[in-house]
Amino acid sequence: MAAIAVSALHGQSLSTHWEDLTAPDFVQALQQSKQTCLLPFGIIEKHGPSGPLGTDLMNGRYIADLASHQEYTIIFPPYYFGQIAEARSQPGTLAYPARIQMKLLQLTVDEMARNGCKKIIIQNAHGGNTMLLHYFAQTQLDQRHDYVVYGYFATPASDLPAAAKPSKPGVDGHAGEGEVSNIMAHTPQDAHPERAGQQSGADQQRLSLPGSVYTGIWWYASYPNHYQGDASGATAARGKAATEFSAKQLAAAIKAIKEDTSAAAIQKEFYDKADTPVNTKQ
Ligand SMILES: [Zn+2]
Repeated sequence: MAAIAVSALHGQSLSTHWEDLTAPDFVQALQQSKQTCLLPFGIIEKHGPSGPLGTDLMNGRYIADLASHQEYTIIFPPYYFGQIAEARSQPGTLAYPARIQMKLLQLTVDEMARNGCKKIIIQNAHGGNTMLLHYFAQTQLDQRHDYVVYGYFATPASDLPAAAKPSKPGVDGHAGEGEVSNIMAHTPQDAHPERAGQQSGADQQRLSLPGSVYTGIWWYASYPNHYQGDASGATAARGKAATEFSAKQLAAAIKAIKEDTSAAAIQKEFYDKADTPVNTKQ
């Protein structure tokens, strides 16, 4: 029976939250989502003087919620076990060791797949997870999997509506106007733009090395307050416009991934050849 017919039978639509579904409804939800599941990957870290510790987790999940109502998918429960070593000097930050981050993410997607999620979208909601997530996706080739991991990274759009744009140059960044505006769109009581000036979000420029050199301490050297930009101009209106725009982009990606049949087939071809590379045609 089609999932839509079953949910109609129940007289209500299926929740998009994994934890809100009953076990029988979870099976129907998988049909409705075409076995596509979404893991919003957040973090718990200081967000300057204005944003809550869960800013990235909350904003990512809010955008995921909006998107999943446009394009049905099953959203994994809150997940925040990512890369945030650079904020260990700040109160409230939850920073797990690197090996645990990788292991837990692998075990999590394995469990999602064992439960029928064969297309797993990891929605990046924290800048510090970007390289981790790319590397994690690459490591999916080191052994055979019966599912595909798709990383989702929102890209700056040229068609961003005026209402979603920063009030002036330089105000966005970690815990800046954009992120705090997004919090104001869904949880205004947790945002404190009036406190934005209590700490500096300016680049302290304490390192002078060529642009070709990378060191892990670069962020702390520049932004020891774990705050970048200026959140004082944050508004719920900007947050609403920005999150709605982001949700539309994410919904389009979910739709494309649902329709994708190539990645799984090519991945299988790759694993088959990797089992016996001497048989690969030269
Ligand atoms: Zn953030």
